Amino acid sequence: ADDVALDPWGSSTVSDYRKLFDEFGIEEFDDVLDEVPHPHYLMRRGVIFGQREYRPVIRALQNDEPAAVLSGFMPTGDPHIGHKLVFDEIIWHQQQGAEAHALIADLEANAARGLSWEEIDEHARSYLLSLLALGFDPEDGDLYRQSENREVQDLAFDLGAEANFSEFQAIYGFDGETDVSHMQSVVTQMADILYPQLDEPKPTVIPVGPDQDPHVRLARDLAERMRFFKVSKAYASFELEADERELVAEFYERLDPADFDDERLRCVHVADTLEETPLADLGIDASTLESVLTKLNEGGMEPLRPRTRFSDRRATEEAFNALIDAIEGEKRVYENHVDAFEIDRAEAEDLAREIEVGNGGYGFQPPSSIYHRFMTGLTGGKMSSSIPASHISLLDDPEDGYDKVKSATTGGRETAEEQREKGGKADECPVYELYAYLLAGDDDEFAKRVYDECVGGERLCGDCKEQAAQLMKEFLEEHQQKRAEVEELLEEADIELES
Ligand code: SF4
Repeated sequence: ADDVALDPWGSSTVSDYRKLFDEFGIEEFDDVLDEVPHPHYLMRRGVIFGQREYRPVIRALQNDEPAAVLSGFMPTGDPHIGHKLVFDEIIWHQQQGAEAHALIADLEANAARGLSWEEIDEHARSYLLSLLALGFDPEDGDLYRQSENREVQDLAFDLGAEANFSEFQAIYGFDGETDVSHMQSVVTQMADILYPQLDEPKPTVIPVGPDQDPHVRLARDLAERMRFFKVSKAYASFELEADERELVAEFYERLDPADFDDERLRCVHVADTLEETPLADLGIDASTLESVLTKLNEGGMEPLRPRTRFSDRRATEEAFNALIDAIEGEKRVYENHVDAFEIDRAEAEDLAREIEVGNGGYGFQPPSSIYHRFMTGLTGGKMSSSIPASHISLLDDPEDGYDKVKSATTGGRETAEEQREKGGKADECPVYELYAYLLAGDDDEFAKRVYDECVGGERLCGDCKEQAAQLMKEFLEEHQQKRAEVEELLEEADIELES
């Protein structure tokens, strides 16, 4: 049960969230909570417990700058109250001013889970209705399905050039039996994650469960590799010696993209970094650099693979020449101890302004992520779509919802007497979770009162469940009413679904 292997397609439970911090480098959400403007109750109550580089998103929201949120739904069944967490996260970011994208991962559902297209359509429709019913604004947001988004497909193709099988093997455990469409669905998902930045690089957050972290890590990696996709492809054609290639690679590694949120091209990036960092600190000796430069200059520009509409050879050449100028500029500084660098930097910046992203490189920023806890199943264990009694579907008849809560496992003691004496175990109680994750809504005091009364022995499970069951019934009634009301919105939304 201590297994923290993260498998996006498995049924992994994460028994020890702490290990995620230590082993996978997910950081605590508490570290940034104070900086979030009007944090959602899921953040305040620790349901959203982790994050990867969420600060750029917070900063953008604070300053009214572009930011995006994106999450996808694999339509394999009815949406349930666990999915509502993600809906809430998308909607909250949209309300805070982020550009919101919600997608239907139909290719993944078909490739990884083998669902038929009819089943996928039916479930997809249902997910979207719940999302709209909970407050997603389709006028101001973007809904799409993977299979129909041509830009995502093109981007997936380019991303595929930067990923390889061994990597998929290492990350996902793919083997010789893994079918190609499954691999394809991974690059498509990577393209989804980076899609909000296609027009303009911007801080983007992906709200996920911790089991989806491998996808996030790979996407962050690919974002880096694609940042200067075209320019780096050019390097390959200069036939540098292995150690020289290493030098250039190492040189890049020392650049910290976090310092350059707004710039788009590596030439400026390099220029800035060189300006701040003496060549000696980069560990590059002058004669090696000399030889690299000679080869770069002699090599001229080989055409890049002329295959996507993003390619623009001239723009790439210019960017690349600016890069060389920047390196030479620094070389002069190094050799002559003169600050001759300003000119090159200005040139590089001018070029960067001229060359739009999409011509010279993708310019992606590594996507950020936030992680929510899994909901405990009502019968104990993990909440699972395949065990109806363990979860409450957003489509459940409200009376059934009521009954499921009434028969849920609790963190209560054997007898009422013992409960009064020792208090209940709210931290281990799926019913308390229902209050904290859903039923108490934005009312922190209410959630806290339930908790305090439970652990203080004032609250007994019978009444507590009755109250929760009643609230659940009301929630389902109201939600289903809203689903009916937003049918029309879904018709208007530009997404192809068979109804
Ligand atoms: Fe759970 Fe409520 Fe019982 Fe406490 S009183 S253990 S919260 S059902």
